[in-house]
Amino acid sequence: MTREQQIINSILKKALERGASVAGYVPAEILRNSPSAQAAGPQGFQTFSGTIVVLGLYHDPKKPEMDWWEEGRSTPGDRMLRRIIRELIVWLKEEFGIAAADIPYQVSDGGIYLKDAAVLAGLGYMGKNNLVITPGFGPKVRFRALWVDIDTEPPALQKQAPTLCGTCDRPCEAKCPQNAFSGGHYSRERCAARLDADRAERKQGGQHVPCRICELVCPAGTVP
Ligand code: SF4
Ligand code: SF4
Repeated sequence: MTREQQIINSILKKALERGASVAGYVPAEILRNSPSAQAAGPQGFQTFSGTIVVLGLYHDPKKPEMDWWEEGRSTPGDRMLRRIIRELIVWLKEEFGIAAADIPYQVSDGGIYLKDAAVLAGLGYMGKNNLVITPGFGPKVRFRALWVDIDTEPPALQKQAPTLCGTCDRPCEAKCPQNAFSGGHYSRERCAARLDADRAERKQGGQHVPCRICELVCPAGTVP
């Protein structure tokens, strides 16, 4: 095993020790032509050397506040991932003298297509609900990533087993209040209309409870 690979493995181990639920990596170059980049245009993050480390955090339905967005502060779940990433950046510099950087969450702020990165890192597959379905936590995972200045080979991905979506009766589609899956494909516009309404409610002082229906009705994952 190369030194670079050993360091990447150490990063993944440390991320899990510090609270991440899942962790994987993908060479940055592979994201240049990811499915979303081909469909929606280039990602915001334009460094294609080095390695992207993708971290995911389980969002327990019993703790809905992990998803509550606060203006200028993101969500508590995202802040937990950012804390882990900040600690990893300091540790990488001190331990190995390797540069690393937090990648902004939004593509428009210089981010990557996180769901593509998670799939390419082997953390799960794209479900019919347009979310990454992880083996342990189903779609109840939020992602964030850091860039690390070491070059790696692509991870050896497991052969994709048949997905649950193939045999599921698709409550994610049936229960969506926006019919965002009508016509057999996900409509970002229809979903966004619901999320905009959630935001407007929050601005008027209401409790901001983002729609998670297509996520919470999904039977995938082993954690209850
Ligand atoms: S509810 Fe069923 S079809 Fe929808 S994402 Fe989950 S497993 Fe796939
Ligand atoms: S988040 Fe809500 S509105 Fe958007 S696709 Fe899922 S169920 Fe539909």
